[in-house]
Parts: sequence; structure tokens; C-alpha cells
Amino acid sequence: MTTNSRTKIVATIGPASSPKEVLREMILAGTDVFRINFSHGSHEDHGAVINTIRELNKELDTHVPILADLQGPKLRIGVMEGGSVMLEAGKEIVFSTVDGPGTAERVFMTYNNFPRDTKPGEKILLDDGKLLLEVVSTNMNDEVVAKILHGGPLSSKKGVNLPNTKISLPCLTPKDLRDLDFALEHDIEWIGLSFVRNAADIIELQHIIAAKGKASRVVAKIEKPEAIEDIDNIIKEADALMVARGDLGVEVPMQSVPLIQKMLVRKCLNASTPVIIATQMMESMITNISPTRAEVNDAANSILDGADAVMLSGETSVGAHPVMVIQAMQKIIANVEDEQYPYNRQNQDPFPSVTDRYVSDSICTTAAKMAKDVSAKAVITMTYSGYTAFRLASYRPKALIFAFTSNKAILNTLSLLWGVRAFYYDKEVSTDHTIADIKHRLKKEGFIDTNDLIINIASIPMHEHGKANMIKLSLVD
Ligand code: PEP
Repeated sequence: MTTNSRTKIVATIGPASSPKEVLREMILAGTDVFRINFSHGSHEDHGAVINTIRELNKELDTHVPILADLQGPKLRIGVMEGGSVMLEAGKEIVFSTVDGPGTAERVFMTYNNFPRDTKPGEKILLDDGKLLLEVVSTNMNDEVVAKILHGGPLSSKKGVNLPNTKISLPCLTPKDLRDLDFALEHDIEWIGLSFVRNAADIIELQHIIAAKGKASRVVAKIEKPEAIEDIDNIIKEADALMVARGDLGVEVPMQSVPLIQKMLVRKCLNASTPVIIATQMMESMITNISPTRAEVNDAANSILDGADAVMLSGETSVGAHPVMVIQAMQKIIANVEDEQYPYNRQNQDPFPSVTDRYVSDSICTTAAKMAKDVSAKAVITMTYSGYTAFRLASYRPKALIFAFTSNKAILNTLSLLWGVRAFYYDKEVSTDHTIADIKHRLKKEGFIDTNDLIINIASIPMHEHGKANMIKLSLVD
């Protein structure tokens, strides 16, 4: 976090942003998280970028984490004859699971079970929904006949969306498992899972991560109607959510996306689950030097909805102005937060029912309430698991949130969370000493000043790294 704003920026890396100097400028302009999209690029390229980001974190004293976005069961057609073929509305076309060159009459589909999973009447969308077809019949073996309802040019390897079909593919494909291995070997902080259908998909991924002894957290990408049906369970299991508006807007009617976004943000805030708003936020800046007014409004509204982070995709991965995009987004965030941001959301049950987190939950709730009541400058949490930082962030306090941890595995991870600025701290002399030491450090670095009221949260005794059970209000001297 190199700026004072609270809403975080996730930037996707690609050819436009891989050089070290560009990444450096992007961090300095306000990038909080870098996303590597495993749908593109090689492990060799990704490895080089990962090393560069880690070097920059050391050079700039930042904690920018990486989000490794796994492709998931993305369906595609095969190679089309001559690269592209025109599909005419009213005609029929066969989707075959047997590979071969695509024509206007027959196209290869990379999904073997399609003839067994689909039913007549179900919709097929091609190329991000630009072409619309409807299933007429299936031979239940290797062919599906579909009628073209809305035609157009269809080029090789375009994506296929089947919003009505219950797809019987595992959420983690063989490619995802290879990419996951690679990401875990590199201790990537966040793993994004695409086309999540239910909470079991998240649990499966978390089991693999835990079995490898890693601490990576999981982002559930919400882009399928089935995920919306199981959303409460998904939010309960996932470490963060992404409103993946690109595919979501193809799988559900586009006009449903704005209200789904608001519903997801509200539910995530209530569950203390960070939420990222993604896709086409500043699409026009792939070529232009400034966003359209509508894009500025969309970004501002996402911030006002209460998103933890806004994400840039093509804008920073293949766009002409990756640094200017971050600067533009940063200006919008700063302005919204200065003028209108709805801080101090006390929308959670202040005293949750008795759970194993009852004590730390009550401490966080009380800290957020106290911060509001006394206009505290900062809430400072000592955290090992990161739990209190997630919880505090979800209250969106006007007070600054500082998280001090001796757990290197979560240090960068916390940078995705709204308002959270993380620090490494491994002295364990005593709680009194730690609180005084941290106060001194934050004052020296200009975050707090004499006569500011600050709130400390900790677990005593400190060396046990237990759950938060202590709260202290004091003046900075
Ligand atoms: C999306 O569909 O909005 C999205 C973020 O997914 P991807 O960029 O991986 O296709």
C-alpha cells in the first residue's frame, strides 16, 4: 500500500506490464495486488514476473501479494478453417467432441460430456455471448445439433458459455492442477478459482493447499448462475470473492449483473469476506489515455458499494497505458473516499452467537464501535492468523487499520483487504512493550501523531499467538 486510500487495486500482469520498471511504476501509482492470469503465458514467464515482484517488494519495502488466477473448466471450440467462419442465423450446426477443422456446419467442442449433459432448448453462447445458439438435439454420445439464433464470425478457440447446462467437469482441470502446483511451489498468496459452482469446489482446493502445507488463500470467482444459488455457502468457505463480471454477464442476463454485484458485496461485508469487483472497469483505457465517464461512474459505484478491491484486466495486461490506468483508478478512489465513502458500517451482529471466535469477534466489533465513538486515528491489531484484520476491515472504520504480524505467510496476503496496511513484527518482549514500540514506529513513519487516540488489539500472552482477547485505548504522546 503506497497510498492512503482504503479501496485496493488489483492489476493483471501481461506483456504490457511485465517489465520491472513498469511493475515498479504500477506499485508506486497504487497497485496493491498483482494478478497472474494462468489462461495465458508459460510457467517460465510467470516465474520471472513472480521473482520481479518479490524483488520490488524488497526494494520498495512493500507487501504486494500475487493472485494466481486458475483458468478452471473454461469451454472452447477448436480451430476454425481459415481462422474464422461465418455462422448464419436460422441455420443448424453440429458441435462434435471429435477434433477436426471447424466449418459453418460442424465445430469441435473441448467438452467430452457435452452430448450427455445438455438438453434440447438449452442456450449456447460463443465468443463472450456475441453469438447465440439453442440446442436442438443430442445423440448422447459425440454430437449436439444446435440452431443459430444470432450469428456472426466465429474464430478459432473462442470461449463457450452454457448458462443452463449442469456441466459435469471437475472444477480443477489437469491444467489447473499443474498451474496450482506451480503457484504453491512459489508460495503465491492468493489462488483464484474460475467457474466455481458450489462450496465443495472451494473446499476441494483448500484441501489440496493444506495437504501441501501451504498458506495460500482462495478467491472464489463468481461467474456462473449455479454459484449464485449456493452463494451463502461459498462465501462461508472462500477466503475472498471476485465478482467476475465478464463471464457472469454472459452466463446471466447482462442487466442482472449490477444488482448481483451489490448483493454479493453486501453479503461479503456481512461475512467479513473480502470482495473484488472485476472486468471492464476501464476497458477504454486499453487504447485511450483516460476512461469514459461511464467507466468512472462504474468504478466509483463499486467503491461506494463497499468493494475491498477493484480489478483491472486487459487495461494493465495488454493495454497501452498500464501505469496511467492505475493513476486514474487511484484518483477515483481518493475522491470517493474523501467525499462520500460510507465508513463505519456497523452492519454486523455486534455480539455474534457463541462460537470459538466469540471473544475475538466481540473484541473487533467493540474496537470498531469505539473507534467511531472516540474518532480514533487508528486501530492496530497484532495478528498471527490474520483473522482480526479481515474482521476489522469489514467494519470499514474511518480509523486507519494497521496489522502487525510475525507470520510471514500472511503478511502480503493482507494487502488485498480494504484499508489494511500490514507490517512485519516479531519481537515478543511483552504486550506493553509491543504496544509502545509499534506506537513509536507508526509515529516515526508519520501515520499517527501526538494526541491521536489509537486502539490496540492483541492476544495475551503474546507468545502463544492465540485469538485476540485484549483491547486498549490510548493517546499518542
Ligand atoms: C471475468 O470473467 O470477469 C474474469 C475475471 O475472468 P477471466 O478474466 O479469467 O476470464
